[in-house]
Amino acid sequence: MIIHELTRQECLDVLQRAHVGRLACARHAQPYIVPISYYFDSFDTCLYSFSTVGQKIHWMRDNPKVSVEVDEVVDRFTWTSVVLSGLYEELRDVNDAARAKARALKLLQERSEWWLPGIARLATGSEHDTPVVYRIQIVTVSGRRAARPSREALS
Ligand SMILES: Cc1cc2nc3c(=O)[nH]c(=O)nc-3n(C[C@H](O)[C@H](O)[C@H](O)COP(=O)(O)OP(=O)(O)OC[C@H]3O[C@@H](n4cnc5c(N)ncnc54)[C@H](O)[C@@H]3O)c2cc1C
Repeated sequence: MIIHELTRQECLDVLQRAHVGRLACARHAQPYIVPISYYFDSFDTCLYSFSTVGQKIHWMRDNPKVSVEVDEVVDRFTWTSVVLSGLYEELRDVNDAARAKARALKLLQERSEWWLPGIARLATGSEHDTPVVYRIQIVTVSGRRAARPSREALS
């Protein structure tokens, strides 16, 4: 297996192709990770996502430093993964954030069923039912790709 580093543009291409990532946040030295759906905005170089208010939103409000991992796995020898560090920013209905929120909702709604996982709890009538739209501003990004060596390389 040969592992290559991805260029920044290759990393952004992976973020563009994928729809699901693993979002890691931390509070009081305890990490927490959950799968999320997202939309990559190449114009603002950020990820938009949507959530009901629960553990990850409480934690990211406390500590906006997050990490996101996205991968494309063909098999255990053939895979691509991208890891980014970023800053959580909640998009509320005021000033610049309102424009960003409108853009985020427009982009997110292009994906059918984008809202289903986050909204699923609404059916239970539980607390914290106010949806949150947020973005992760990308601070650093890196990527690696693994591939089987070609037959020529092995001979
Ligand atoms: C493919 C996919 C896409 C998803 N997309 C979104 C999305 O776009 N927006 C969104 O809000 N949610 C999405 N979810 C659901 C998400 O992973 C969380 O379950 C959900 O957001 C609740 O997270 P929370 O931190 O608010 O947990 P809470 O509801 O506050 O629950 C807290 C506890 O529940 C447990 N828990 C929470 N989520 C999970 C989980 N996924 N698996 C196992 N244990 C869990 C943990 O132990 C955690 O401590 C997606 C899930 C999948 C599988």
